[in-house]
Amino acid sequence: MGGLFTGIALKRSGHRPTIYERSAGALESRGGGIVAQRNIRRFLSDHDIVDPDEITTRSHERRFLTECGDVERAASETMVFTSWDALYRQLRDAFSDERYRTGTAVTGVTPETATVTIDDGSERSADVVVAAEGGRSATREQLRPDADPEFASYVAWRGVVDEAALPAACVEAFDGTFTFFQGADQLVLAYFIPGPDGETEPGSRRLNWVWYDTLDGRDRTAIFTDTSGSERTFSVSPGRLREPVRHRQRERAATLPPVFETLVGETPDLFVQAIYDLTVPSMVADRACLLGDGAFVARPHTAAGTAKAEGDATALADAFASHESVDEALAAWDQRRTEYGSTLVARGKRMGDVRLNLD
Ligand SMILES: Cc1cc2nc3c(=O)[nH]c(=O)nc-3n(C[C@H](O)[C@H](O)[C@H](O)COP(=O)(O)OP(=O)(O)OC[C@H]3O[C@@H](n4cnc5c(N)ncnc54)[C@H](O)[C@@H]3O)c2cc1C
Repeated sequence: MGGLFTGIALKRSGHRPTIYERSAGALESRGGGIVAQRNIRRFLSDHDIVDPDEITTRSHERRFLTECGDVERAASETMVFTSWDALYRQLRDAFSDERYRTGTAVTGVTPETATVTIDDGSERSADVVVAAEGGRSATREQLRPDADPEFASYVAWRGVVDEAALPAACVEAFDGTFTFFQGADQLVLAYFIPGPDGETEPGSRRLNWVWYDTLDGRDRTAIFTDTSGSERTFSVSPGRLREPVRHRQRERAATLPPVFETLVGETPDLFVQAIYDLTVPSMVADRACLLGDGAFVARPHTAAGTAKAEGDATALADAFASHESVDEALAAWDQRRTEYGSTLVARGKRMGDVRLNLD
């Protein structure tokens, strides 16, 4: 996402960006739901990509349930959601194939000359290298070896289910709401997102849920060891959770309000991701910069990962447009976005620790 936001924003302001994406095929979402923050919607409109209403769903009430499923409290609030795949598809279609090189991994960066080395051994130079490589960025490891992701002591179980596959009472219970259940050491939430092809009409949407869990002494290594026997550090993707792990988690859903228990029970593929915090002291090194999750990973409670990537990208294009030299632009951008990222990560820590009773 960060690469595409940057590519589109820089192209619009007259630059000639090229994106190198190591995945060879179409990227598939591991998750589903994204809060479509206002700046993401504005980006879609401003760049004539799509009318945001066409790929978003809305809730009009934030609702907390008791363990038995009664409404404990509710407040009017409009939230706008989309799915990772619907947003990605729109951004991808808005960027030319010619300058989007798939199956091309960057294996090294020389910041002084803004040069990248590609996995076939060749080199490419530009005015600036933007590493939008996500939370496991190898370029960040190269440029900021001391900035390590820090495990936050809890995980998020996740799932997406077609509303058509759910009992009508379950759909009705979640419709139009952003629904939560806060337990002693767990927090679960659900909201509607567009269907697999971006459908937003009732009947063809999907329900997205996220279940934060401190694991209550369970063995994290066992949970994060996937069906191939490899231990994953950050996430086990859909279809890769071992059967005993999936079974145990479905059983644990009995501790949730009945509608959430149904939701988890009806979800074909659960997956899990570790929650962690990441900050870098600075996003720029000479002519290379770290953008999006490659620089700062804030906990999902902030609902800001994708919005931050958009903010970094638009701010970078603005900085180039409003400064005489590339170096001045990068320095100004670095100051502004490093401050933003650090503040967001700190806010996410506070939110998560309070909600999971970790403070
Ligand atoms: C397939 C996928 C599905 C996702 N699904 C969800 C979701 O459902 N809900 C949600 O909230 N968030 C999801 N995310 C995360 C979300 O996209 C990010 O948190 C946010 O948009 C910030 O994006 P980013 O560009 O910084 O990093 P990312 O979105 O992680 O993108 C990094 C990209 O860089 C590529 N890359 C990494 N290293 C190299 C390299 N050396 N050379 C070339 N390419 C490289 C990766 O293949 C990837 O496409 C998903 C990310 C991915 C990659």
